[in-house]
Amino acid sequence: MGLEEYRRKREFGKTPEPVDGEKGGEGSRFVVQRHQASHLHYDFRLEIEGVLKSWAVPKGVPLEPGVRRLAVQVEDHPLEYLDFAGTIPEGEYGAGTVEIWDRGSFTLEKHTPGQLEFSLHGGRLSGSYVLIHTAEKNWLLLKRKPKSRDKRGRY
Ligand code: MN
Repeated sequence: MGLEEYRRKREFGKTPEPVDGEKGGEGSRFVVQRHQASHLHYDFRLEIEGVLKSWAVPKGVPLEPGVRRLAVQVEDHPLEYLDFAGTIPEGEYGAGTVEIWDRGSFTLEKHTPGQLEFSLHGGRLSGSYVLIHTAEKNWLLLKRKPKSRDKRGRY
């Protein structure tokens, strides 16, 4: 996807959001930003291949297994967005307040065009998650049940 759409949607003199291209990748980081825009949602971003793959999750990232949440893919964001919190002015794209709700690292376990499997290691979020592509920009985000131990106590 690249960052063209991210740049095209924003006027960097007017929004405090970061311009891309300053930092190199450090690995597999994630962030969840609580974005009080025209509609409250949570932006879930995973560092993959030098950008933040991004989804808007209206009801937030599930904390418990068995809960499925719609996640709408949005444009890739620059890595600098991992640290962004602030107020996007009225009239600008995404106008409203952005707070960091959680952050940490993740382990990517599977990455195909239609499915991402990963474990999150954050402050609020931890455990095994799956993103499943359903149609167009729509994905389902769900938390998996922890693996049950066998009789010998192994997972
Ligand atoms: Mn947003």
